[in-house]
Amino acid sequence: MSEKAGAVVIGGGVNGLGTAYHLAKKGYTDVVVLEKSYVCSGASGRNGGGIRQQWSSRENIKLAMESTKMFEGLSEELGEDMEFIQGGYLVLAFDEDEVERFEKNVALQRKMGLNTEFVSPEEAKEIVPQLNISKVKAATFNESDGTIYPFLVVHGYARAVREMGVEIREHTEVTDIEVHGDEITAVKTDKGIIETDTVVNAAGGWSNQIARMAGVELPNKPYRHEIMVTEPFAHFLDPMVISFHHGIYFSQSKHGNIVGGIGNPDEKEGINQRSSMWFLRTMAKTLVDFIPQFRSVNMLRQWAGLYDTTPDAQPIIGPVPELERFYQLNGFSGHGFMVSPVVNKVTAELILGEEPSMDIDRLSVTRFEGMDLEQEYSVVG
Ligand SMILES: Cc1cc2nc3c(=O)[nH]c(=O)nc-3n(C[C@H](O)[C@H](O)[C@H](O)COP(=O)(O)OP(=O)(O)OC[C@H]3O[C@@H](n4cnc5c(N)ncnc54)[C@H](O)[C@@H]3O)c2cc1C
Repeated sequence: MSEKAGAVVIGGGVNGLGTAYHLAKKGYTDVVVLEKSYVCSGASGRNGGGIRQQWSSRENIKLAMESTKMFEGLSEELGEDMEFIQGGYLVLAFDEDEVERFEKNVALQRKMGLNTEFVSPEEAKEIVPQLNISKVKAATFNESDGTIYPFLVVHGYARAVREMGVEIREHTEVTDIEVHGDEITAVKTDKGIIETDTVVNAAGGWSNQIARMAGVELPNKPYRHEIMVTEPFAHFLDPMVISFHHGIYFSQSKHGNIVGGIGNPDEKEGINQRSSMWFLRTMAKTLVDFIPQFRSVNMLRQWAGLYDTTPDAQPIIGPVPELERFYQLNGFSGHGFMVSPVVNKVTAELILGEEPSMDIDRLSVTRFEGMDLEQEYSVVG
């Protein structure tokens, strides 16, 4: 016996559950969220919680600005403190190319209404007095950027959608998507079949596997990214500090721990969520280069998750040309938490046939056909 659902959302992370939340808020609850493991087991439960609006591409700036506004109201909306701290983001430049690029970024961000400041190394040190600025050439700072506690957000959505009548099925793996002509007819899982004509592919690092089940090829690829947390200590660090040059970012949580990661430029494509010694050594050394006092701090734990990376480091949002009602919500390239509120809302609007409240046409998967892409540069590689 198969069952029926108005829409099936694949992925129990921030994007799957956030979309289910926006559908349910509009009164549409004939939705089943399928999660092969447990809620928040993917990148949504493994990230740095950074909320940054300082991007180089117009699309990412627009998504992050609107999403930040939505995060500001989320604690009240979900009835629980999401630990959204707007301590700013301090973005450091280490060579002249970066300085030139950051000048352009700040000009674009300010034109779009974001109050980012271009600051000198000395001004950066005023913001973070412990920072070693000996090699810093310049920095940018935006005080409304910040961090949020990812588990609270994802479990907040999960609780809210359950209360509104949406079903979340954990430990239920999608194994196939049935297609007739250009329409979806059902989603097959290891626990049975759900008849539906509407599917949201919010499967993060696994989203290209899911797309392939429906005969759709996506250009995004999974890459491991590692991250760690230190023991807690007295608060001293307000902003998230980030360097694209070193691929490092770190912030201090509300509870006093430093949470941060560093990208490995030699990381190979693939599903790999194991921890490495390379990370432990490189992270420890680089952290101490940035803030020498970290020398006496102990790391508590390290872990890894997947970036789901597109060729232009911008997400893939919306329908695909070859299949009706197959909505993509993936390819977030390492910043899918911070832009999730607005893209989840827009995905819900598309599913319900409403006019999207933000124009996301440029984020369609069709942009890769011509490959005339606007590259996003402000990423931790
Ligand atoms: C180390 C690290 C640091 C990061 N830092 C930040 C940051 O500071 N700020 C930020 O905005 N973003 C950050 N990101 C990126 C961010 O975490 C992701 O973009 C975001 O969480 C993606 O959410 P999602 O819901 O789309 O995917 P996920 O959270 O990955 O959820 C996808 C879910 O789909 C499930 N799934 C997969 N296949 C199947 C299947 N066949 N059947 C059923 N379920 C399936 C998976 O189990 C998974 O739970 C970071 C990522 C990592 C790894």
